[in-house]
Amino acid sequence: MSKAWTLATHENGIADLILDLPGEKVNKLSTAVIEELRELMEQLSGMAEEIDVLLVSSGKPGNFIAGADITEIQSISTSPEAEAKAAAGQEVLNHWVELPFLTVCLIDGAALGGGLEFALACDYRVVTDNPKAKLGFPEVNLGIIPGFGGTQRLPHLVGKIDALDLILTGKHINGKRSYKIGLADAYLPQAFANEQTREFCLGLLTPEGSAAAHKHRKRARRNSLLLESTPLGRAIIYKRTELELRRKTGGHYPAPFAALRVIRKTHRMGMRAGLKVERHEFGRLAPKAISKNLVQLFFTAEALKHHPVTRGDEAPRELERAAVLGAGVMGGRIAWLFSNKSIPVVLRDINWEAVQQGCNAAFTVYKELARRKSLSGREIDNAMQFITGTTDPRALGLPDIVIEAVVEDLETKKRVLSEAEQLVEPDTILATNTSSLSVAEMSAALTRPDRFVGLHFFNPPNRMPLVELVRGPHTSDETLRTVALLALKLGKTPIVVKDCPGFLVNRVLMPYLNESVTLLEEGADIRHLDQIFKQFGMPMGPCLLLDEIGIDVGSKVAGILAQAYGERMQVSPLFQDVKQHPEMLGKKTKAGFYLHDAKKLRPNPSMQAVLPATGSAKARIDEDQLKLRPLLLMVNEAARCIEEEVVESPAFLDMALIMGTGFPAFRGGLLRWADTYGVEQIHAKLDEFAQQHGPRFAPVRLITELSERGAGFYDL
Ligand code: NAD
Repeated sequence: MSKAWTLATHENGIADLILDLPGEKVNKLSTAVIEELRELMEQLSGMAEEIDVLLVSSGKPGNFIAGADITEIQSISTSPEAEAKAAAGQEVLNHWVELPFLTVCLIDGAALGGGLEFALACDYRVVTDNPKAKLGFPEVNLGIIPGFGGTQRLPHLVGKIDALDLILTGKHINGKRSYKIGLADAYLPQAFANEQTREFCLGLLTPEGSAAAHKHRKRARRNSLLLESTPLGRAIIYKRTELELRRKTGGHYPAPFAALRVIRKTHRMGMRAGLKVERHEFGRLAPKAISKNLVQLFFTAEALKHHPVTRGDEAPRELERAAVLGAGVMGGRIAWLFSNKSIPVVLRDINWEAVQQGCNAAFTVYKELARRKSLSGREIDNAMQFITGTTDPRALGLPDIVIEAVVEDLETKKRVLSEAEQLVEPDTILATNTSSLSVAEMSAALTRPDRFVGLHFFNPPNRMPLVELVRGPHTSDETLRTVALLALKLGKTPIVVKDCPGFLVNRVLMPYLNESVTLLEEGADIRHLDQIFKQFGMPMGPCLLLDEIGIDVGSKVAGILAQAYGERMQVSPLFQDVKQHPEMLGKKTKAGFYLHDAKKLRPNPSMQAVLPATGSAKARIDEDQLKLRPLLLMVNEAARCIEEEVVESPAFLDMALIMGTGFPAFRGGLLRWADTYGVEQIHAKLDEFAQQHGPRFAPVRLITELSERGAGFYDL
């Protein structure tokens, strides 16, 4: 087998060690690569005479080492096995640290997870201004913690505050920031990185050069040292971090807590003892279901990124100008997405007030960003210049794509799309942001339906990562691909779904919302019901979610789906009554299931008038029913979507629900949860509920089949 590591010595005492994993796009620290390094180190240990500085770099452009091999993490099934894996990596890096010469690494691309742990075991790190240079520990996103010494070496180098920030959040930082916090010892322009890194290496051999590097490290740590050098300061850091973690994770993700525990416990411990604690925690986490679920999602995300819909032989067509029709709740923020990527966009509505509101919505997103990411006033002004408002249908400015986001009414949409088609170039793509109407029916109004596609953003489009890409009956492959690539460029994950009412996410979500309201009508308590789903891991319970969406909007979608799917999606009486209570539409009217007029939410007593039984039967409906009835209806509808091939696979369906509704990622998604719960048991429960509460619970064919075979959705 060809080698991953290549060593070359030079007369000036600087040797090169290049990692270039054969046959792979990126470098990974797989067991084989680590083993090869171990063998190489035996040779290196005896080379003190020839080598003064060993410079490690990568043969892969834009990538240093992407991390451990995640398939190996996926295959871990026991704690001892996990600990042994971590121990092997730790041991190699411990030997690396002891090499009899200086080690420097040049990071000109991604150095993540195990890759960053390797970099930390080098004596010095040089980073570049390459936009692809990113450093971080994504382990917590996979339900584990760094296991090759990262929890020990990073805090030691940069201090606890910055180390906790990196290890507990999974975020990555660029070269400049890594230099600022002292993680890197030099920050160089990419164009001259090769020569200047060598100069840096030679400099280290002089007293001045090495003193300068140490001075930089000390300066970078100065701020954090002040707080963490006393027991009280450290206690404050840990407490604050823990509270923040609880707030962000709801306590559902054990990995960041474990990382915090390790860093706290190993304060002032020697390296060997610290590493033991680290690998022990790693060993506890790696075989757990949460890690397996998160690793599965990682692979699903990869599959989506490399999906055939975004791959093709011909060069992708760049969409350089856009127009958005309708400047309402969605339109203004969709325009923001384009401006944020420096794509000029014309925002059109029928009156100036709406246009202004749409532009304001985009401006508000920038202001929010400015508050968090210190975007300057001038940067906001520049970005806003990419948005032009108009009421003139002929002033769309030769767009390559037009996104229709006008009111949810089929006739209006057909008219608006047909009018736009006549005013733009023949190769302009038309897209609709409809959330429930038929793409096929709209395409009937067009003369070039091959250039028409559904592009369903979720609200708020600036934050929600999913777009459903809906193929119409005539949509061409090229149109689909061009729009999928555009979605990726706008920072979204496109998932192709079939043209059916509600498409995928709303179709699966609606039975959950409907059933939740039915439970309230039967006497469930608003707050109690919401709590159950918060505990399950949803970002909010169904009642609060309806307040956020708007009960009128929910009611409208429920009506459309009921018409399309019949009895099983029958609209609950609350949704039917909604017009009679215009003062109680949710957050936008400051009252819905909750009162939104004060900081603290309170259930709305007036809801009692609409749902007289609410809160009366806490004890009668047991917790199992409260949780399982809405959830299992979702599973049943999701199974139907798989049967009807609305989406390509259970894994894609799970990803869509996680990104479109906030379904808890640690459960791996709805169908992964169903597999964990047991499809057989789900079948039995659905049968039981069908007898008690009606045929909407009757298990679909696929669930019956899987249950009979003792299989799960992920076995399909
Ligand atoms: P909205 O009512 O807030 O805005 C619609 C805008 O379209 C209004 O400003 C209206 O003046 C304008 N309009 C009407 N006729 C027009 C025409 N002929 N030309 C140009 N503009 C016209 O609606 P919204 O919530 O932004 O929804 C827009 C679309 O996005 C709908 O299809 C909806 O289903 C979909 N959608 C909405 C959400 C959501 O949560 N609001 C989520 C996903 C998708």
